[in-house]
Amino acid sequence: MTPLEREIRSIIAAEGPITVERFMALALGHPRFGYYPTRDPLGAAGDFTTSPEISQMFGELLGLWAAETWSLMGRPPRVALVELGPGRGTLMADALRAARAMPGFPDALAIHLVETSPALRSAQERTLARSGHPVAWHDRFETVPEGPAIILANEFFDALPVRQFVRAERGWHERLVGLAQDDALAFGLAPDPDARIRIPGNAGEVIEINEPALAIVGQLAGRLSRDGGAALVIDYGHLRTAPGDTLQAVRSHQFADPLADPGEADLTAHVDFEALARICTQAGTRLHGPTTQGEFLRTLGIEARANQLKRRASPGQAAAIDAASRRLTDPTQMGTLFKVMAFSHPGLPSVPGLIPVPAKAQSGSELETTC
Ligand code: SAH
Repeated sequence: MTPLEREIRSIIAAEGPITVERFMALALGHPRFGYYPTRDPLGAAGDFTTSPEISQMFGELLGLWAAETWSLMGRPPRVALVELGPGRGTLMADALRAARAMPGFPDALAIHLVETSPALRSAQERTLARSGHPVAWHDRFETVPEGPAIILANEFFDALPVRQFVRAERGWHERLVGLAQDDALAFGLAPDPDARIRIPGNAGEVIEINEPALAIVGQLAGRLSRDGGAALVIDYGHLRTAPGDTLQAVRSHQFADPLADPGEADLTAHVDFEALARICTQAGTRLHGPTTQGEFLRTLGIEARANQLKRRASPGQAAAIDAASRRLTDPTQMGTLFKVMAFSHPGLPSVPGLIPVPAKAQSGSELETTC
């Protein structure tokens, strides 16, 4: 039994079953035994691989996206380049290298990383040591200093804990984690439905609410609509709010039981882009997209960048570059499952690679999407 399972069992023994959200928050974030604070989970030797770890092209294209966005913002003399959940710092390192192509941009930048994991902060420090940019770390976005900002978040929101509700005869019951008769950790339901959730549903359907994600997007959007700038969110998820249990555990690149060995597996839930978009609209930002990752990277020029890299590569390396490009963009791999959305100060008419949502469509209940 993992030390965290022992801790979770003692909480359940003292207080009764806990919500899925609390279970997920403990499994991922417990300061001593949680998944993220205790390890670097990325890469072939870890549990999962993300786009920036697949290819330098990903971070480079995002760096060019940031540089072009800064130019569209009117080239403010100081801008915070903020990344939420920067993993090993690979995306930021690749982005900063590519951003040198835009004269004036590197000098305007102040780098701010929002990261709670001590293990990953050390990795980020090592990766960015040679970037030539001082880096400031934050536990939360609120402490990033005021002023215009360009914010990047790749696979950050899927790592935040969700509440789950299951439809039964009398309404939506919160899903809980307790102990089964055989004493194993098991899912159960709150005895009474949550009277605040009035949406219709069929028996057995599951809905998910990511309250931390909604709160953080609300903060980002409030900041951007006040101080200027744009945020780019890339994650796996759905364009429309829809029922579905998307909680999953991954360990050593394999799906695992989310209740087995808490603290030792990555837990994620898909991001509901429609719910995030609604918050952005309420906070007065302009929406861009969403679209799929494949479409976005192709529009930003991943093929041209791959061809450029291949000119200096051996045949083996060229094949690897092509394979990485396919993995990031192919609909059967990460191209469609991953979605991309930006939101910005309302005065910013467009950002690269995404179609701005007309203000009229934004105020209605239905959002225009490109796919
Ligand atoms: N963006 C990186 C890593 C994704 S993994 C990449 O694409 O490779 C999720 C990242 O979010 C990790 O860096 C993790 O430590 C961080 N994280 C998870 N929960 C967090 C929270 N509540 N606040 C800040 N960072 C968090």
